[in-house]
Amino acid sequence: MSYLAKNYNRKKLSFTKGKGSYLYTSSGVKYLDFVQGIAVNSLGHSHPKLIKTINNQSKKLWHVSNAFIIPEGEILAKKLAKKTFADYVMFQNSGAEATEAAIKVARKYFYSIGKPHKNRILCVKNSFHGRTIAAIFASGSKKMTEGFGPKVVGFDHFKFGDHSSLKKKINKNTAAIMVETILGEGGIKVIPDWCLRELRKICNKKEILLILDEVQCGIGRTGDFFAFERSKVKPDIVPIAKGIGGGFPIGAVLMNKKTASGMTAGTHGSTFGGNPLAMKIGTEVFDIISKKSFLKHVKKNSNYFHEQLNKIKERFPNLIKEVRGRGFLIGLQLYRDQTSFIRELMKNKLLTIRAAENVIRILPPLNVKKSEINEALKIIIKVCLKYK
Ligand SMILES: *Cc1c(COP(=O)(O)O)cnc(C)c1O
Repeated sequence: MSYLAKNYNRKKLSFTKGKGSYLYTSSGVKYLDFVQGIAVNSLGHSHPKLIKTINNQSKKLWHVSNAFIIPEGEILAKKLAKKTFADYVMFQNSGAEATEAAIKVARKYFYSIGKPHKNRILCVKNSFHGRTIAAIFASGSKKMTEGFGPKVVGFDHFKFGDHSSLKKKINKNTAAIMVETILGEGGIKVIPDWCLRELRKICNKKEILLILDEVQCGIGRTGDFFAFERSKVKPDIVPIAKGIGGGFPIGAVLMNKKTASGMTAGTHGSTFGGNPLAMKIGTEVFDIISKKSFLKHVKKNSNYFHEQLNKIKERFPNLIKEVRGRGFLIGLQLYRDQTSFIRELMKNKLLTIRAAENVIRILPPLNVKKSEINEALKIIIKVCLKYK
């Protein structure tokens, strides 16, 4: 029997080794891993530079308290700020902590400028911001919140794409609008660039902060360092996590100067967040992914993947409804429940993962080879033929 709590519906499959895009079972069976820990292993498994970094730093220093200056964190924060809209960075350990910290930053900002009534956060119904008590109520999903009451107040919701409901839900107490630039768990739904620009305008007009949750879609996943970059919109606060640690747990909140002004000494903290080991790894991941040539490569290879998937869609028009997403954040939406399709892909040694709305999520490492994409395409076609 397993002594692990039963809060996951696990596949009967485990691995002992990973290399690049592949995972290996104890008996040496090889799987093409297009889950990558749900967009976490952004550079695949066992990246040689990350191994070297973790080995070197592990001999020097793992953890010191944030009561002291941590030079490794200063370096990564500076790099993130120089590369993005952000002026300040606050390190955490996970996505949910980052989104919660983002909420705290927004509320504290208005409190600090004498407008404490501005404390409500407007979110998309059935979005995903993590599993902590506040984050589940921010997500506004019945499934996630059921049984975990009492309800955490302070969150309002609008339906994805419903602009009139969005405008109706804004009131004088709205502090921030928090949305995923691309909804991940919700079914790989992209907020169009023009919508992001409209959101920014609304926020400016009504003195509301714009929080873009890039925990899943950020850190090069779409071919831009952040998914919102293409829209030219500048958010106020951006929580990140998943991809930045390459498999090591790191979260962070990026903020502009204005919103960071409320976060004075003693207002927020984390025991583990931003320790030297995490920061060294995060810096290595950042240095690799933020390179123009790397991101260009992500765009090129992911465009190819989308093109080929759309061809498969045309070939199986009664099976595949839509190819969603951008870059290597890909959703294959079926007309039917995707569960058995995912199982068939797995039987054929391709690992994918579900999202809402019958979507199969495909998340290769950002440095996936074209030959590996072709291998995946072959398996997808084979499984499509079975369902035709
Ligand atoms: C995964 C995810 C989170 C939560 O991250 P955890 O590390 O699991 O807490 C938050 N927001 C988005 C958009 C995510 O995809």
